Amino acid sequence: MINAAVTCEQIKDGDAVNPQMSLPNMLYCVVPLDWCPHLERLQPMPPEGLNPQTPCETCGDPRENWVCLHCYQVHCGRYVNQHMIQHGLECHHQLTLSYSDLSVWCYECEEYIHNEVLLPFKRDAHWKKFGEMMLGTE
Ligand SMILES: [Zn+2]
Ligand SMILES: [Zn+2]
Ligand SMILES: [Zn+2]
Repeated sequence: MINAAVTCEQIKDGDAVNPQMSLPNMLYCVVPLDWCPHLERLQPMPPEGLNPQTPCETCGDPRENWVCLHCYQVHCGRYVNQHMIQHGLECHHQLTLSYSDLSVWCYECEEYIHNEVLLPFKRDAHWKKFGEMMLGTE
């Protein structure tokens, strides 16, 4: 028997994470949406591309950062100081790319998104992060 329950002990004290909100995102086997309406609001990648080494612009934390695909600011994720969530709410920017696992999350749809228009972003980040090209079309 595998106990799949996720306990709140995995969330650090002081993170102020609402366990009900974050629970679904902790599960694996997540099937991303292949489209969401916010893809139409993506802004073109800056000429210098992405930099997965960028620390959070708010707190300087280098660990779990996301880049906003609408304005290219970099902020930390929900397990650090949640500055990207804050940014998304304040600026109404929905789509962010994780520099940890190169997944794209939409704050408005609350789903992972995988669409071919996101491939150039993922390829660029993968190249900069790992120093090799991303294999396949995924
Ligand atoms: Zn931060
Ligand atoms: Zn933004
Ligand atoms: Zn969306």
